Amino acid sequence: MEMLKIFVAGCWREGRGEEMSSTFPADGSLNARLRAASVEDVNEAVEAAEQAWRAASWRHQLPHQRATILHRVSELITQQVEELAQLQSRDNGKPLAETRALVLSAAGTARYFAAACEVLEGELPTQRNRDVLTLSQYQPLGVIAAITPWNSPIASEMQKIAPALAAGNAVVLKPAEATPLIALKLAELFEQAGLPAGLLSVLPGRGSVIGEALVRHPLVKKISFTGGTNTGRHLAHIAAEKLIPTSLELGGKSPTIVLEDADIELAARGICYGIFSSAGQACIAGSRLFVHRSLYQPLLERLCQLTAGLRIGDPFTPGVHLGPLINHKHRQTVIDYVNLAKQEGGKILIGGEIPADPQLAQGSYFQPTIIEGLSNQARVCQEEIFGPVLVVMPFDDQAQLIEQANDSVYGLAAGIWSRDFTRAMAVAEQLEAGTVWVNTYKTFSIATPFGGFKQSGLGREKGLHGIHAYMQQKSLYLSLNHQPNGWSD
Ligand code: NAD
Repeated sequence: MEMLKIFVAGCWREGRGEEMSSTFPADGSLNARLRAASVEDVNEAVEAAEQAWRAASWRHQLPHQRATILHRVSELITQQVEELAQLQSRDNGKPLAETRALVLSAAGTARYFAAACEVLEGELPTQRNRDVLTLSQYQPLGVIAAITPWNSPIASEMQKIAPALAAGNAVVLKPAEATPLIALKLAELFEQAGLPAGLLSVLPGRGSVIGEALVRHPLVKKISFTGGTNTGRHLAHIAAEKLIPTSLELGGKSPTIVLEDADIELAARGICYGIFSSAGQACIAGSRLFVHRSLYQPLLERLCQLTAGLRIGDPFTPGVHLGPLINHKHRQTVIDYVNLAKQEGGKILIGGEIPADPQLAQGSYFQPTIIEGLSNQARVCQEEIFGPVLVVMPFDDQAQLIEQANDSVYGLAAGIWSRDFTRAMAVAEQLEAGTVWVNTYKTFSIATPFGGFKQSGLGREKGLHGIHAYMQQKSLYLSLNHQPNGWSD
């Protein structure tokens, strides 16, 4: 199999680092072989990025000219949804229906930030002095290090590349080890859309080597990271040493709450989707479920029924709900957590095993699993499993419920199911979470900011915050009176 080329400083060529591969999690077959980037490649990419964003050809482009490139990228993505979705599914094993949605969301993200950069306005602060006019402008930061995880690469990569370029920066992207394919494809589309060379490089490689060299490079002026909380904390230390800003989109252990007046069918369906789509490999997975005791039995019955009906299988088979986990190592982590839950006194209501179907034997599949009988203090309720595992707990009292829902180092998302919006809003107000869904889950809009409270992150992506995150403000004072300033005579 031919070695895949990587995209360094506007050139397609083999990396100079170690050999790596992309494999299909459903059967372990090889998708591609490539040589990772080396530290020299990182240096070359960052230096080219620095030159490219400072070049008049980019610096003097007006927002609508930068927007044109993003619009072209959006169109190119829309023209090849199927191909891109298949590539993404090959890389990380997500069912096609999910990766199609992710591809369309990436096209929407490019379109949104194209529009955003055209309508962004500077500020004209209220005048405090008749003789001086003050203005505030937004300017780019420079070279952005973008680092992404494997679970939804096309979406998380576009959420960084599009606003950063729209704001006039250059981007060096290091995709996750397991999923280099879509990032390289995105580079191809940006090149095809006319992005000047050097403004985007894609450097597959190990986080501890290539990611580390990238974020430590003195010319990198911002770290935009999506991934685990421990890695995020480590990168925040590096950013603190360099005194550069970070955007950190990190882990979660999101609570979903069913109040006593909830519509059971609606809630059960939403909860099932909220935890088991993407086989639970989602930062926002609703992994802790609190149900009012009066609905506990009927809700659980329906939830188990729906879960039993979920189809596990090859991501390319129509109608499949859960594909494999990203790899066998990750599946073992999930199994270890399920065993831990049993040791802690948890009862498995459904799932908890590797599927018996011999056709799935080669893939890293795991059954959707529901556990009860644990308290929120159990490790499986406190630690992110990142797999299809739901822990269910009854509650009686709303104040205690809120205390438990908030008893987590994470604060990424939450869901509330209730027919009473006033009550749901009162609960939402008290939850420590960056996103709260009411009677829905995992619903997204690119115009709405996304990010975490507590150890789920710093900063926001999406919305106008998503582009301001890649800009810095410059204030200007213009004298209107032609008088010399300084000491009066
Ligand atoms: P991870 O932290 O292990 O890796 C993420 C990325 O960081 C990878 O590209 C990796 O190579 C890189 N990396 C690792 N060590 C590095 C270092 N020392 N320097 C620079 N880069 C380094 O996370 P993962 O296992 O790939 O992804 C799963 C995690 O991502 C989960 O915790 C999940 O909740 C989180 N996530 C968060 C969001 C969000 O928006 N909040 C979205 C998706 C995933």
